[in-house]
Amino acid sequence: LKGLTQKENGEMWLEEFENNGFKASYKIKEILHTTQSQFQEISILESEMFGKILVLDGIVQTTSLDGHIYNEMISHVPICAHHKPKNVLVIGGGDLGVANELSKYPFIENIDLVEIDALVVESCKTHLKEIAGETTDPRVQALYEDGAAFVKGKKNVYDVVIVDSSDPIGPAEILFHYDFYKDIYESLKEDGLMVCQSQSPIFHMNVLKQSFQNIHQLFSFTRLYTAVVPTYPGGLWSFTLGSKKEFKVKKDILATNTKYINSKILKASFKLPQFLKQEILG
Ligand code: SAM
Repeated sequence: LKGLTQKENGEMWLEEFENNGFKASYKIKEILHTTQSQFQEISILESEMFGKILVLDGIVQTTSLDGHIYNEMISHVPICAHHKPKNVLVIGGGDLGVANELSKYPFIENIDLVEIDALVVESCKTHLKEIAGETTDPRVQALYEDGAAFVKGKKNVYDVVIVDSSDPIGPAEILFHYDFYKDIYESLKEDGLMVCQSQSPIFHMNVLKQSFQNIHQLFSFTRLYTAVVPTYPGGLWSFTLGSKKEFKVKKDILATNTKYINSKILKASFKLPQFLKQEILG
């Protein structure tokens, strides 16, 4: 398995290389599942500290310890920024965590989940129920294709688009390009909005700035918000929200059955540390 090593004492460790100067190591108790798809190596591991971990090509995607923080922040914030969306598109999101959060809103009528790799969904449904859930809401339509190709040519279809992608390498690289955001803009209705994960403000400022600038060029209203997700390198994680119309996050529609987000966090997550304000707003 990519990144997995066995020490002389028999211990297994997953080493995730962030760059040449930093790696994170997870002590692994058991390999629960592993398979090679057309796109990537998929594994689900039981770790000592983070519970179950989904790993794609040696990179940790989500864990049962803190996956809910990320999934709640990338789902509930755009829903509360829109006035009761009906038609939502999720690009990526194969662990089904985002789809499960969206299912908490009865006014959403349809959730299209466009994931390039059917084997990620299948693996998580069987081995990562803590995130994928026991059952999938019938409003979720899973479509297995490239998210960038799917959204191209769509006009005026969605209220909200959520880009829950892996890091900008391999199949997800295209999900960080300007043309992809432009196609998302076109696919949205006139009061539509989008959100994407824009990486770590501490480690990936170049990716964050590029995503923010791309979205800012297209959308009249662009805002950045953050959350702390210990699994992701740097801890502090960013999300960029682009909206065609001016918006205010509405706490009165926020779902109550959450573990992390509440009405105070909903508002406070848009308050940015000084260095980030300077980088983004100049
Ligand atoms: N929350 C995670 C994170 O921030 O690292 C990402 C979760 S989810 C597992 C990411 C998914 O995006 C993966 O299942 C991957 O297969 C999918 N993906 C990557 N490139 C894609 C593309 N071009 N179109 C659709 N899905 C894609």
